[in-house]
Amino acid sequence: MNRKQLVVGNWKMNGSLSDNEALLVGLSAADDLSGLDVSVCVPYLYLAQTREHLAAGNISWGGQNVSEHDAGAYTGEISGSMLADFEVSFGLVGHSERRSFYAETNELVGIKARKLLSVGITPIVCVGETLKQREAEETFGIISAQLEAVIEQIGLENLGRLVLAYEPVWAIGTGLTASPEQAQEVHEYLREQVALLDEAAASSLRILYGGSVKPDNAEKLFRQADVDGGLIGGASLNLIDFLTICRLAI
Ligand code: PEP
Repeated sequence: MNRKQLVVGNWKMNGSLSDNEALLVGLSAADDLSGLDVSVCVPYLYLAQTREHLAAGNISWGGQNVSEHDAGAYTGEISGSMLADFEVSFGLVGHSERRSFYAETNELVGIKARKLLSVGITPIVCVGETLKQREAEETFGIISAQLEAVIEQIGLENLGRLVLAYEPVWAIGTGLTASPEQAQEVHEYLREQVALLDEAAASSLRILYGGSVKPDNAEKLFRQADVDGGLIGGASLNLIDFLTICRLAI
């Protein structure tokens, strides 16, 4: 199965109207990315600005989170239908920063994935182990539990609508990267887990790698059989680096 690679930039809580301008103008001017899907997940406040710049091109945009509620008295939250109003294609759920700083549980991550699907947005479900868990050889158990909780919420019939991102917690923003072999081992395992439930969904499933992907390590990671692109944090804030990483995925 030849899965079209997907590279997603996660801006996290960075940016300003003026800083974003240069980044978005540069992204919208890149005319050699047609062999690839590219998206940027921006802070909610900048969705309108991002849509304005990217709407005419091939790069899509997404949110970094979503509320588990549909509407109502949840001050400060943003619902799936609000994201859909801004025509977002993707929503991140289960990012390790949300799991660790905001105590998001596996179950909550699953509910958020379901909310996104209910409004036609593709969830990018992040899974990954901490260094301690890796050292204790718990990696597969941890990511299986994270995945299972999502499947429980969305139902088997929606497995084919997910994007997964393997993001070892020890590699996010640390400069440490999983080796291509370590990434491939986990990606292959994830695909096998999905294949046990739905073979067709497994073969078309895109599994992104995230964790300190940079221009100098992206190519080898993207060449792994079960790595279908990347989720790029820090390097997505630098136009040249992000475009270089994108081109290495084509
Ligand atoms: C991320 O934010 O998902 C991420 C992988 O960050 P970084 O590339 O900076 O490690």
